[in-house]
Amino acid sequence: MTIAAIIVAAGRGVRAGGEVPKQWQMLAGEPVLTHSVRAFAKVAAVDQIVLVLHGDDMGRAVKMLGGQITAVTGGATRAQSVRAALEALAGRGVRHVMIHDAARPLVSPGLIGRLIAALENADAAAPALPLTDALWRADGTLVAGTMPRDGLWRAQTPQCFAYDAILAAHRAYDGLPADDVEVARAAGLSVQIVAGEERNLKLTFPADFERAETILRSDGMDIRTGTGFDVHRFRAGDHLWLCGVKLPFDRGLEGHSDADVGMHALTDAIYGAVAGGDIGQHFPPTELRWKGAASHIFLRHAAELAAEMGYRISNADVTLICEKPRIGPHSAAMRAALADIIGLDLTRVSVKATTSERLGFTGREEGIAAMASATLVSA
Ligand code: MG
Repeated sequence: MTIAAIIVAAGRGVRAGGEVPKQWQMLAGEPVLTHSVRAFAKVAAVDQIVLVLHGDDMGRAVKMLGGQITAVTGGATRAQSVRAALEALAGRGVRHVMIHDAARPLVSPGLIGRLIAALENADAAAPALPLTDALWRADGTLVAGTMPRDGLWRAQTPQCFAYDAILAAHRAYDGLPADDVEVARAAGLSVQIVAGEERNLKLTFPADFERAETILRSDGMDIRTGTGFDVHRFRAGDHLWLCGVKLPFDRGLEGHSDADVGMHALTDAIYGAVAGGDIGQHFPPTELRWKGAASHIFLRHAAELAAEMGYRISNADVTLICEKPRIGPHSAAMRAALADIIGLDLTRVSVKATTSERLGFTGREEGIAAMASATLVSA
């Protein structure tokens, strides 16, 4: 079965705002039209893609063309544009054609596949969603009556047909049809309804662009979590560093750097979320230059690495495990210090503490342990 997709993008509609027709406006960093082209190109069964463009827009499309993708110049009406593409496909062995509006950039390869499957048992198939909102008739801004919605559907594209039949139907049609299903039905074709997709929305107004952007953002969202754990033993001293705060204490913590066990655990959690190694790899204790280093250098490096890889830190949670010193009085200052280093709002950083009920090495006050988790979201 040779299948061609026709993407109609010749309109001049600027109701969506902006200075260029909506199919050339940017959506998630790319022209609206590009999104539809990609969806069809992803479906192996689609052999050819024909873009129907306004004569003035041919230059804009140059980069999209090549291989299976060609372009034709559209006509004065949508029906004439579709007709031009259908005529251009003559003699190319096309058995089925899917006619799609470029203003529906969120068409999914899944929907395209379901429509192709429906064509195995029907000469025509088109996506639609049943109407669920109540329908009103209005007189100005006042409700003047309600309308039954039984049997009413919201039509979408791509609308799919046997090629010879829809070509003949378009040649015979005279008028301004709402869509290609209307042309097909005028020629006596029966059209199978296939469940459409709510996301396959039509860009008409500026708010539709915002909705489409939101959907595309959630499509690409990648959420990562990482965990970290660290231990440092006590040694003689008069202060220690915990989560970026210097605490007077009757002992210190042993370590190559400033031994900030909480910050080390958090640093490793961030490295872990992006599979970016660990603190020892990035700052080997064998290297003299890290001797006595302030640990915010490590934490900042992990945050920067995550940012370079396209992630932002959504939240961080550190647990310090020790009998002493008491953490509670200092946790607010610790949260503030960590939040400042990684550039997070205070509400996204937690520092809490627990004892180990006098059990184990922390219970015997031989040292302090810390665990941390961090959640990262693709930026
Ligand atoms: Mg450490």
